[in-house]
Amino acid sequence: MSGVAYKDPERGRAYGREWMKRNPEKAREAMRRWRARNPELRRERNRRYKRAAQLRNPAKINAQKAAYHAAHPEYKRAKDQAYRARKIAAPGSFSGAEWRDLVVRWGNVCAYRGEPGPLEPDHRVPLVRGGTNYIDNILPSCRNCNAEKGKLTEDEFRARLAAEGNATMTPDGRMSDEETSAG
Ligand SMILES: [Zn+2]
Repeated sequence: MSGVAYKDPERGRAYGREWMKRNPEKAREAMRRWRARNPELRRERNRRYKRAAQLRNPAKINAQKAAYHAAHPEYKRAKDQAYRARKIAAPGSFSGAEWRDLVVRWGNVCAYRGEPGPLEPDHRVPLVRGGTNYIDNILPSCRNCNAEKGKLTEDEFRARLAAEGNATMTPDGRMSDEETSAG
């Protein structure tokens, strides 16, 4: 679409659609670049799209939201956590999407002892000890581990679990006592 100007805008759009069909890879890449260059426009577009969907069928959208929140209680908890962190002015924040990606990376289990959940965001370095609320300071934790960990750092808590003889999760999704060893 090398900047060809059409007198008839519909002809231009039709050409654009044809081009995208013929060049799906390039079209995706162009869209990606456009989104990266225009984060505000992209958000506005998403907002408009969501508003339109809500207006078209509010009952359906509300039911979808309720079902989503029921199926993903950790999503609301992540939001609450982000809110609390903002409240005490810790630097950084993470999105619901970042949280979901993190939970998936840990195989949907607690990053400490592998419990199936429900999972909540735990700060590897607690906020009260100068940790941030960026996603790289967050791990999915079950309530027990989160409560037991308290104001310990991740390293301190893992050391304590190990000292107590607990098997712990490793970042590649195994339990420490599953590690194959020659010994
Ligand atoms: Zn746990």
